[in-house]
Amino acid sequence: MSRITKVESFTLTVPRDEPYLGALREGEEPNEQGYFVRLGNKTVYPTVDRSVLVRVETESGVVGWGETYGIVVPRATTAIIDDLLAAFVVGREPSDVMAIHDDLYNLMRVRGYGSGYYMDALAAVDIALWDAAGREAGKSVAELLGGRRRDKIKGYVSGLPKPTLAERVVFAQEWMDRGFDSFKFAGTVADDGIVQEVIALRKALGPDAHIACDMHWAFSPDEAIAAIREMEPHGLWFAEAPIVTEDIPGLAKVAQSVSTPIGVGEEWRSVYDARYRFDVNAVHIVQPEMGHTGITEFVRIGKEAHARGISILPHATIGSGIFLAASLQASLALEGVIGHEFQHSIFDRNDGLISPGLSCSNGYYQVTDLPGIGIEPTESAISMME
Ligand code: MG
Repeated sequence: MSRITKVESFTLTVPRDEPYLGALREGEEPNEQGYFVRLGNKTVYPTVDRSVLVRVETESGVVGWGETYGIVVPRATTAIIDDLLAAFVVGREPSDVMAIHDDLYNLMRVRGYGSGYYMDALAAVDIALWDAAGREAGKSVAELLGGRRRDKIKGYVSGLPKPTLAERVVFAQEWMDRGFDSFKFAGTVADDGIVQEVIALRKALGPDAHIACDMHWAFSPDEAIAAIREMEPHGLWFAEAPIVTEDIPGLAKVAQSVSTPIGVGEEWRSVYDARYRFDVNAVHIVQPEMGHTGITEFVRIGKEAHARGISILPHATIGSGIFLAASLQASLALEGVIGHEFQHSIFDRNDGLISPGLSCSNGYYQVTDLPGIGIEPTESAISMME
């Protein structure tokens, strides 16, 4: 029995040489705030990497860490944690994490905050509480969730951030030489068109490679059906986020009109987001993002998916490694996990931010069974936090 005595939030900014998804194209210049819009998916990004971290501490001196998105307006998320959530967490026990999660969710239900910054803040607090609960018990999060179902998790190479198709093909081949056989390219920056992208990658990578297309919510349902049908003869592993997330009937229509599996879910916050889509047979592969869901909702989404025969292929985004470690722990424990996204563009860089580092080599993540999420920020990362 050890109660939470402190909940703190921080912003971690990490400069990067080239923005996420590769060099900026014409019309994508950053504004004064350092934000720019990717024309291909109309989405705002910063020129730096940034996330929000949460640190909780217990009476016995155990520390737990959590992380969520800080990509845009990180102060909105830290304000929710500092001004609202922290005081409702102090005095409670980390082993009550799922109950705490639901109490915090209930606080804002009638205000309509079932998504966005509120749920991101809750996700970071939730991960930190699971981490603290594991460290208090001397058990990994996977053990707390019922135990490891696998020793390693297949990683797929996400994004081929090179300016031309020829260079992207070479880049994918280099990863194949390093033992990876699964790839996803970003339709947003496939300047020769997504069909040409699949054709070129298939030719170079051979018949057994898994090749997926992230369609970045950029198509109408009918356009998506036509585009996926054009890619299908070249062997498409799955088509991700083909249409806008709000159009659930449209997504169901796409999913039922093509033979390629449809993958979605990176922007969801809770199992309710999943149910609306699962109920209308709109999803074949679910891609929960730990930075938005926290461990509690991630596990709920995963269990709901598995019960319905839907595969789980968790999303991974730009972060320090804290929410990725949490995602890998939960992925060890869930039934139906077929792999995990591998963000190679930040993975090695994060070695200096987390201790011990994470490992993804020869096509697989190797995950430790150290207590909690198994990693923590380094002194150097902590010194960069504001
Ligand atoms: Mg995506």
